[in-house]
Amino acid sequence: MSERLINISKVSDIFPEYIDTPISMLLEYHNLKRPFEPHTQAEILIGMCMDNRNHIRIPGHFAFIIRTGGANLRYSEFKVSFAISVGGVKNIALIGHTNCGMLNLSSQRDQFVKGLVKNAGWEVENAEEHFSKYAPLFEIGNEIDFTLSEARRLRDRYPSVRIAPMIYRVEDHRLYLIRE
Ligand SMILES: [Zn+2]
Repeated sequence: MSERLINISKVSDIFPEYIDTPISMLLEYHNLKRPFEPHTQAEILIGMCMDNRNHIRIPGHFAFIIRTGGANLRYSEFKVSFAISVGGVKNIALIGHTNCGMLNLSSQRDQFVKGLVKNAGWEVENAEEHFSKYAPLFEIGNEIDFTLSEARRLRDRYPSVRIAPMIYRVEDHRLYLIRE
């Protein structure tokens, strides 16, 4: 496991800048099994991968969630802006994860093309073109580096919003803060 990942197994593991914020609350709900409290409005926007192994333990009404390949929010900007402006959230948890399918996309080209032909009824050349056009946009490289770079991009874009990059380890289903 990367030394940059901080295991959150008690409240004092949470970075001081997140204490008494919805970021801390998210970590406590998920990792520390904090009892659910009633929420009447969204406190946080969670950006996370669509991967079916990622499951977050939170109460109803607590969070807006945008799920994308690799927790990449570059192509979801209007929805992020909406959650902040109309939804009123001032905190974003950006959750990358281990073993993400958006890593090394080029190595999955054959499977992608064959799968679209077999499962979706596509022609081979259309499937190849689709992959070539979009794979570079969704490739994330290393999950920790990508999540950090995406957090920095969001901080530039939304300077008054608190952005917390973290990693969900599919090996133990826990959230880890990233040492920046
Ligand atoms: Zn993923």
